[in-house]
Amino acid sequence: MKKTILLILFVGAMSFQPSFAQKKSPALPEFQIKKSETEAHMRFLAADELMGRRTGESGNFVAARYVAEQFRKLGLSPVTSNAGSNTVSYFQNVPFEKMGASAAGEIIADAEIMKAGEAWLLMNGGETNLKAPIIYASFGLEDAAKSWDDYKGLDVKGKIVLVESGTPEAQTPTEIFATSNEKRKLAASKGAIGIIELFNAPVPWNIVLRAFGGEKLALSQGDAAATPSIPHAWVNGKEAKYARALRAVKEVEFKTTGRKMQLINSYNVAGLIQGSDPKLKDEYVLLTAHYDHVGVGRQGGQPYTAEDSIFNGARDNAFGTVALLTAAEALSKNPPKRSVLIVALTGEEVGLLGSKYYAANPLLPLNKCIFNLNSDGAGYNDTTIVAVMGLDRTGARAEIETASKAFGLGVFADPSPEQGLFDRSDNVSFAREGIPAPTFTPGFREFNGDIMKNYHQVSDNPETINFNYLLKFSQAYTYTARLIADRKVAPQWSAGDKYEPAAKKLYGK
Ligand SMILES: [Zn+2]
Repeated sequence: MKKTILLILFVGAMSFQPSFAQKKSPALPEFQIKKSETEAHMRFLAADELMGRRTGESGNFVAARYVAEQFRKLGLSPVTSNAGSNTVSYFQNVPFEKMGASAAGEIIADAEIMKAGEAWLLMNGGETNLKAPIIYASFGLEDAAKSWDDYKGLDVKGKIVLVESGTPEAQTPTEIFATSNEKRKLAASKGAIGIIELFNAPVPWNIVLRAFGGEKLALSQGDAAATPSIPHAWVNGKEAKYARALRAVKEVEFKTTGRKMQLINSYNVAGLIQGSDPKLKDEYVLLTAHYDHVGVGRQGGQPYTAEDSIFNGARDNAFGTVALLTAAEALSKNPPKRSVLIVALTGEEVGLLGSKYYAANPLLPLNKCIFNLNSDGAGYNDTTIVAVMGLDRTGARAEIETASKAFGLGVFADPSPEQGLFDRSDNVSFAREGIPAPTFTPGFREFNGDIMKNYHQVSDNPETINFNYLLKFSQAYTYTARLIADRKVAPQWSAGDKYEPAAKKLYGK
């Protein structure tokens, strides 16, 4: 019986096949991609040889090079022309300042000898050997509007300034961090030669040491030389004896080996596919995925062993990068109506910096960009779906569902809302500009199980990837991009969305 029914079903399905095939899987190239292609991209990008693709290091450059040469092979047009160069290339230079891991040293206040890395952390400054008067300047801030000046009546020239962290109103970590650089600059501008800040946030000191003691990357401000740099220490202010000693003395010794500052480049990799419609091709869809990851050993910030110390970042985010390369291939072979700009982003793991830089230095006008489809993820634990952060906010639910269904995948909107994932990937850099920008993520409904097991762990390697799913995911991503690029009317933010005002400003409507 069962067999008979199966046979009838089978014959039935067969007879439906031709019309189904013609309608749903036209000869579009994304339907022809082979599993071996997506698997090869993954095995390369997440290989041990790339050493975790850490921003600014050689594995990161190799990944960028790989993406660029795929673009070349597929015939995408380069669109960048970097300052000082007249060659157009696929690489957009992204300049970073790299500050070395925390330094050794001592701050001595009379009998109190405070050691760096225990009692205090060097936040800025090179090699230093100071013995100088110390002067207390409250919070070390001034605000003309509130006629508030902590430096009023103080002569700090040639002295070390002692200040409290944060502001009189706020002692949150965010506020402390936000005001810290400002305090250093202000102290330097008043002629101080060093600054010691008593860190008082309700955060365990060992977490502060871990969070701020490692190597740090920031986007280069370009005016680094113009900003006077004085040594700046955060002292554990909750250890009463340190605060007491520093307040009591007239003079301190401040010695450190310094944190090494280095200017480095990494790259966003960009390629353009011209749209096929003479009118609509001036508009474009922006496809993004970050290709960087966290590196090797201590850089990963998570457990590792001598046998396996490489954070391969197969799920995070070779997966999305493969989807991007799949789109490059399929959309270049048969372009949609609007143009498509594909940008593989660097610097995501160090604070969404590649996308931040791109949004501030776009290669094509942002107001011609109708949509950003970003792909990023921590992993997956449901290979029957894709998860889309911002599905119901960004006006393209129909295209996303149609495209996913064509490859047998359902769509799940905004899993783990408590994690605030929409604002935790590169899409937010574009959303802030007003561009509808969801993130297309490998399938999960909750941030648990396999996700936690692999998220930023050495186990996130190609050996544990479901390659059938990688293919389908990449195809669904590509077909979604096509359907959106072919739309008559550009997608819109849902009414009342927090990014809607930015959209009005960007598009002027
Ligand atoms: Zn990550």
